Amino acid sequence: MKPSANARHSAFTSAIDTKAQNIVQMTDQFGKEIPVSEYFGCQTFGLAQMREKLTKDAYNSLLKTLDAGKKLPKETAEAIASAVKEWSVSKGVTHFSHWFQPMTGSTAEKHDAFISIQHANHSELRVIERFTGSQLIQGEPDASSFPSGGMRSTFEARGYTAWDPSSPLFIIEETNGKTLCIPTVFFGYHGQALDNKIPLMRSVESVSNSACDFLKLIGDVDVKKVQTTLGVEQEYFLIDKNFVALRPDLMMTGRTLLGSPAARGQQLEDHYFGAIPSRVKHFMQDAEFELYKLGVPVKTRHNEVAPSQFELAPIFEDMNIASDHNLLTMDVLKRIALKHGMVCLLHEKPFAGVNGSGKHNNWSMSNDKGENLLEPGNTPHQNLRFLACLAVTLKAVHSNAAVLRAAIASPGNDHRLGANEAPPAIISVFLGSLLEDILNTIEKGNTLKGTDQQIIDLGVNKIPNVSKDYTDRNRTSPFAFTGNKFEFRAVGSTQNVAVPMSILNAAVSASFKECTNRLKELLKKKKRDEAVMELIKQIVKETKNIRFSGNGYSDEWKTEAKKRGLPILNTTPDALEVFKDKKAVQFLVDTNVLTSEEIASRYHIAVERYVKTLEIEHLSLIELAQSYVIPALEKQILNVGTVHGLMVSKSTAKSHENRMNTLDQVFGKVLSELEKFETLVEKSQKIHDEEKRMWDIVETVQPATFKLRVACDEAEKIVADELWPLPKYREILLANTLA
Ligand code: ADP
Ligand code: MG
Repeated sequence: MKPSANARHSAFTSAIDTKAQNIVQMTDQFGKEIPVSEYFGCQTFGLAQMREKLTKDAYNSLLKTLDAGKKLPKETAEAIASAVKEWSVSKGVTHFSHWFQPMTGSTAEKHDAFISIQHANHSELRVIERFTGSQLIQGEPDASSFPSGGMRSTFEARGYTAWDPSSPLFIIEETNGKTLCIPTVFFGYHGQALDNKIPLMRSVESVSNSACDFLKLIGDVDVKKVQTTLGVEQEYFLIDKNFVALRPDLMMTGRTLLGSPAARGQQLEDHYFGAIPSRVKHFMQDAEFELYKLGVPVKTRHNEVAPSQFELAPIFEDMNIASDHNLLTMDVLKRIALKHGMVCLLHEKPFAGVNGSGKHNNWSMSNDKGENLLEPGNTPHQNLRFLACLAVTLKAVHSNAAVLRAAIASPGNDHRLGANEAPPAIISVFLGSLLEDILNTIEKGNTLKGTDQQIIDLGVNKIPNVSKDYTDRNRTSPFAFTGNKFEFRAVGSTQNVAVPMSILNAAVSASFKECTNRLKELLKKKKRDEAVMELIKQIVKETKNIRFSGNGYSDEWKTEAKKRGLPILNTTPDALEVFKDKKAVQFLVDTNVLTSEEIASRYHIAVERYVKTLEIEHLSLIELAQSYVIPALEKQILNVGTVHGLMVSKSTAKSHENRMNTLDQVFGKVLSELEKFETLVEKSQKIHDEEKRMWDIVETVQPATFKLRVACDEAEKIVADELWPLPKYREILLANTLA
């Protein structure tokens, strides 16, 4: 339908008239619903299924390969491929796809059918299902269409995908067919990481190695492996798709570039944890059903702060799997939303004036006994270990705050960070008052007095008993300790979490290495527990700057952070500069998470994506102003002018003139801001150096974007509702409550 006020009204009517979609639940042969535990992961083929379907030898060979991180022997690969094929075909799967994570930030897939031609005899051909070990293990998509950030010259433009056996294979079901997806890494001819998964896997291994060295030194002599764990809380908006169809900005950019805030936004604070609208609940149940079949342990669903904003959180998992699962979750949310006639907006800032969307990354580490290293324990040793790992993490964030900020930089996230709704663009750590007290006590070298229950004896010192059940929270902190894990809250809702997590892991791994070396020195002079305590004390002192418990949204904090010398990087271009600072990124190289070449390539890709994303926004905004806002204003002025000619009484004519003047002013403002904006955009398009263009955009074009938007939003307020073609915020955001 052509965008018009009529179309807008029909979109609204259809949005509120939509009937809830019934979903097919899993039932037994008698039509009775079966519990989730019985079908959870039924569309996946991971280690559990392999143990069942493979011979003992093949399975053991796979385990050995996984442990050693080596290449799979050919026979094992063939055995697995054959089991995978049998399982897939029995489930009606026709195609397979290497599923990978190019540096575009999303996922990519290329589908191939299982069919193959067999020559029965020289004149007769037969089609059979075939899937070989090498098809499972390696693929070669056309790498030239994916960004490499200059790492590949054209003559070696090859890119390869290779199966990551630690992440389960999964089947994506669509109405007319099923595809087997094989989680893979994507790398170049010389082994360069062309994706986001390889650095993540390297970082996980790096943490394990350096944490084990450290733990052995503090007394955990039998530790073999340290696992990093991740639980991702995903925020999103859900809106009727008819609105999106009428808004070129949502279609093109995933966010609204114009729109006057609705009278009722989130000020009543009644949406958070409020009753979930039934249409949305149907969607959630459907999405969760899909995710359960895909083995994603989604646990929590609730409304978020803004109208039509929601959150989903799974139970935490091993880092690599949790990261894959978040990508899968984003895919499922988008796909299932469409099935329900809605669009899932994952953008960090789809609507001005209401909350944006983030993605809290709950991060921790555990040893091979399954003990959480960031969880205070029952014994003096466990508590000492807890404090030591806490100190290591503080050191990691303190030394690499700027790179952690750069790891979450994107044009979308720029709207959140520092915008009084999300953690600020300044990285700091919140620990809570009890831990603050403990660290302050340690710093002073004091021994506490108190009752026995509150105090634990560390052998060398007495500190308050650390209990994870304390509850103070600080929503404004970008990196907060929440009892037994840290929560990196500044991550944007669209981002592949593999990026910030690989950098956080690298920072922690580097910090473990440094602490190990320092502890070795201290051990020359002191007994073990005393040496550990001394190290903790030193680190507590050194990292004091990064700890902040106050209001991260306040202006005082900005002043204070500046005084403390913490990096304040407000925009993506500011943050990306850090990747060019050799000293700042050295820890990524030292921990083997990224080579210098890979870091440089990521910087180039980020610059390019910044420029391209904003160019699309700018061109879309010009279109909106030109073909929607201005024509609506013209019609309105024509109407008002006609009426003005009919005015009889002088006083009415006078008041009416004011109305004409207001319209005239706004019209003039839109026209002149648009002219200026177009000139700036054209000028920026002529800058061929991407870096220079990025700076031009952030410094000159973006402020003009803001001015043009303000003028257009004023127009929305004074143009007759029946002349306004773009669905309004109140319609888009509140329709769900009527459906
Ligand atoms: P919040 O208190 O932030 O609302 P929850 O306590 O429900 O949230 O936990 C948020 C997320 O943290 C969940 O995904 C949960 O599984 C995850 N989480 C809990 N423990 C750990 C851990 N040890 N490591 C990583 N993530 C964890
Ligand atoms: Mg949280």
